[in-house]
Order: sequence, then structure tokens, then C-alpha cells
Amino acid sequence: MKLWKPLLSASLLLVASHGVFANDSPGSGLQAPNMDSITLEDIKSDVYFLASDEMLGRETAKPQAQIAAAYARSRMERVGVEPAGEDGSWYQTVKLKYHTWDATPSVAFTRDSEKGELKYGEEFVSTGGAEASLEYEGEIVFAGYAVNDDTRGYNDLDGIDLKGKLALILRYEPTTWMKGGRNPFSRNAYLQTKEALCRAAGAVGVLMVTGPESLGGSDNRRQLPSPEAGEKSPPLQLDLGEETESTGELPFFHISVPACDKLLGGEGETSRVQKLFDQGEVTKRPDLSAMNVKLTAKSKVVHVEDRNVAGMIKGELDEWIIFGAHHDHLGYGYFGARDARTAMGEIHNGADDNASGVATVLEIAEALAKSDKKPRRSFLFLTFTGEEKGLLGSSWYVRNPLIAHEKVYAMINIDMIGRIDNHKLTMDGTSCSKVLDRVCKEVAPLFPELEIGFSDKPPMPASDHWPFFSKAGIPVFFPFGGMNRLMHTAEDDAETINYEDMLPTIKMLYEIGWRLSEEQAYADYTGPVKEAIGPDGNARDPNKSTDTDEEQEQEFSSAR
Ligand SMILES: [Zn+2]
Repeated sequence: MKLWKPLLSASLLLVASHGVFANDSPGSGLQAPNMDSITLEDIKSDVYFLASDEMLGRETAKPQAQIAAAYARSRMERVGVEPAGEDGSWYQTVKLKYHTWDATPSVAFTRDSEKGELKYGEEFVSTGGAEASLEYEGEIVFAGYAVNDDTRGYNDLDGIDLKGKLALILRYEPTTWMKGGRNPFSRNAYLQTKEALCRAAGAVGVLMVTGPESLGGSDNRRQLPSPEAGEKSPPLQLDLGEETESTGELPFFHISVPACDKLLGGEGETSRVQKLFDQGEVTKRPDLSAMNVKLTAKSKVVHVEDRNVAGMIKGELDEWIIFGAHHDHLGYGYFGARDARTAMGEIHNGADDNASGVATVLEIAEALAKSDKKPRRSFLFLTFTGEEKGLLGSSWYVRNPLIAHEKVYAMINIDMIGRIDNHKLTMDGTSCSKVLDRVCKEVAPLFPELEIGFSDKPPMPASDHWPFFSKAGIPVFFPFGGMNRLMHTAEDDAETINYEDMLPTIKMLYEIGWRLSEEQAYADYTGPVKEAIGPDGNARDPNKSTDTDEEQEQEFSSAR
């Protein structure tokens, strides 16, 4: 699951009762066949394999993500599921791309007879991978904290001309403005704010130092943000075959304090100048007009491929229930890790996120494939790559569906059900379909060992169900064990998983999937895609309106 802030504030409808355990004995009320084939052993062996150190955290577009895909394939093939990928295969190729440096960026400068240069990786690094290229030679201008705050009558850009020049700035904001608490900074301190301000002033690029007086400024003397993070695990995008239009953002580089001292003309200069600006003495900015700086940073696009896995069990009808889960994770934690400060470079196994979800898809596929009952609707089992890098595998699938969207009855996305706390599980998003909501609420009481919560809010845009809901107009729900302390840390290991609650959860999801397959009513859908058509050929959305899809999507993604 990708990191996402506002969590369930919505009212939770809880379903609980008196501790008896569900089984498929006649009295249990369960309808799905072969329920007992779902076992703790199977779940454990899937999670232990996928979340083993050998899988190196299953990073997208790395060999281990491919092995995870091959594992899902072999598990499904072995139990009699059929391939549903491209050209009769088990896979769907996902085309991706990223930026990297064509050559190591360089910065050289002269001042009168003095010549100097900055070493990439040691004295300067790029902040966002290798997105933006720059070949520049010319002036550099010191622009303070690059803050313009009317409320304080403070404007670093007052009286300076950045047009066509390189800006040298301080990170964050004047230390005298810092507040206490978890976030001592205002928007002035955000990189995006500074980048936008410098871009608006016509600068061609930015060199930024974390001043020694600032938070973390002290350890800056030793290290910069590790350049390798952006280079070892660059931001990925879908490769849609179009020319990469640049983000338009300025090339932005972190520089170290020693590097900044060099540019300002002497050791301790950064600290001296920072103290001046902290006192508001912006007019005492250093004059760098005698300098000439040559900066070369050329980026190139690299195209890579990864794959989703697709298996199917055909039913009576050409109408489909999709069970999906992402099989990728954070690799060595160079991106998206919540413990980057302490554990970057360590394998992040992602047992809960999301070996637990993949195990769920595989166990349900096995139960159904090995049952002697043919389901009414058909089932498509998908495991996605690229979720942690931005829902890439599921977004690619929705752009290139293997089964036409209008034939899909519903999509159930499983992400992080391995660390259910106190038997509490949330069925996020069922409110987008009255039929889905009803069926889930009919089944939940059959699993009294779990405490199932329902939300009246639309599904949160935090995992692979989102492209199905927001782009394909398919009813979805997302069982979720909740954010937890170990999420996106190097401690998310197979030994820490709550298998005992995973077992009834998987059985419950199978039961729900089976009942949706048998359900007579077509699943309605309330969401941003107003024109969505269902397997019955009718509009899914009971109350179609004139608002454009974009307006509706905006309304839905901001409704959380
Ligand atoms: Zn995640």
C-alpha cells in the first residue's frame, strides 16, 4: 500500500458477536465450496516465501519482482487455474520508464583567478532522481531562504534578479521562525514552494544547502541526502510511448555546507550568512557577481518492463469477479520507507505489505480451482507489480484490460491484511455499491472471530483498487487491516504476521466472492465514472448526472 495520510475518520459500523468459529459444516451458513482448502500452512508458506530475504524486498522492475510473479503463476498453475494473460500466457507486460543521468552531473566555478569544482555524490546531489537536465554557464545569485512571506513582510527575492541565472538558497526557513512540535516548519520550508518561487522569478536551476543552524544542519557536514536513493530506486512512470514531456520543474540540487562555503568564498561563510538571514538582514546577502558557474546535468530516459500475473477460473457467465493484490514492495527501502533514516539499504520484506494480499488471492484461487462446483460468474486473479511506485501495475491493467471493464461485476483488492489488530478489519469502500455493501454485511456475521468495520466513505485512493474505481468505473472494495507501526519498515517480516486472523479473513473474502458470483442483482456503482456500463449492459450508476468525470473524480478523491 502506498503511504496515504487521512485515514478512516468516517463512522465505522462494527459487526461482532460471541467467539464461535466459522467452518463449512452445514450449520455455518457458508456457501462457498471447498472452504477447508484454505489453511494456515498454505498462507504461511506463501508469506514466508514472498517475504524471505532472498526476495530482496521484491522491488518493481528488479529480478525479484519477476520471481514473485513467477511464484504466483506456479502456485495457480499447480492447482488448476488457467492462464489469463497476454496471448494465452500467465503474464501482462507492464511498460515502465525512468530518468537517469546520461553522465555524472558536474559543477565547476571560477572567481577571479580561483578555480573550483563540486564533486557529485559527495558535495552535491539531485533532489528528485534525474528528472531535469541542465547545461548552464553563467552567474549564480544568493537568494536567502527563497521565501516570500507577506504575513511577515519578508521577501528574499526583493531586489535581486534571478532571470536566466542559477539560484543558491538555504533550506527550510529562518530558524527564528521555527515552531515546536512534530512539524516546526511552514509551507515556506517546502522544496516545492521554493522551486516554484525560483521558477517564477526566472531562475534556470537551484543549488540548496541545509544551513548548519537548521534542523539536521549539523549532520550535513558529514552527509547529503543519499544520492543513491534516487538513482538506485528512481521514480518510475508508465511508459505510454509518448514523448516524456518534462515536469517543468527546475533542476534542483542539494549541496553540502563545505561545498556552499567554497561557493561563498571561505570556511564558515555558510553559517555566517545564515545567521544574518535568521536576523532578517537580507540586504547583507553575499555578492557572487564575480563568479562564473558551469553546471552540466544531462538526464536520459530508460525504458524497462515488468509484469502483472493473470489467472482465471471460468464460470457459467462471461461476467467477472476480480481478486487482486500487489506482489511488489520497497526493495532496500531507497524509496517509500518510513525508516529511511535508520534502515535505508536494508531489505524491506513486506510480509504484511503485501505478501499477505498475494497469499489471499492464491488461497482463494486454489479453493475455487480444486472445488467440484463451477461458479456462476467467472473469476480473474491478478497480482500487480508497481503498486509502491504509484499503482503502476493496476493503472497499466486498467488502461489495457485483459477482460473488458463492462464485463467485470466487481473488483476486490487485498492489501495488508497480515497485521490485523485485535481482530479488527475494515472493509473500505463498500459504500460505492449497495449490492457489494449488502453482501459483505450478510457475510461478516458468519465470521464472529473478526470485528468487521464498514465505512460510509468512498474507497481511499491508497491501493490498486483505485484505478478500477476511479478510471474504469468498477465497483470495488478493499479489506484492510489498518496502518501499523511496522508498515514500510524493515521489520515487516513473515514472523510478525498475525496468521490467526488472516485465516478467517481469507475465508470471509472467498465467501463474499462466491456470493457475488451467485448474486442475481447487478452491482451498482457510485463513483467518478458516471458513464460506466455493467455486465447487464446498463449504466452502473443509479443516479447518472451531468458533471464531467474529472469533476466527479475530484469530488471523490477529495471526499476522504
Ligand atoms: Zn506499501
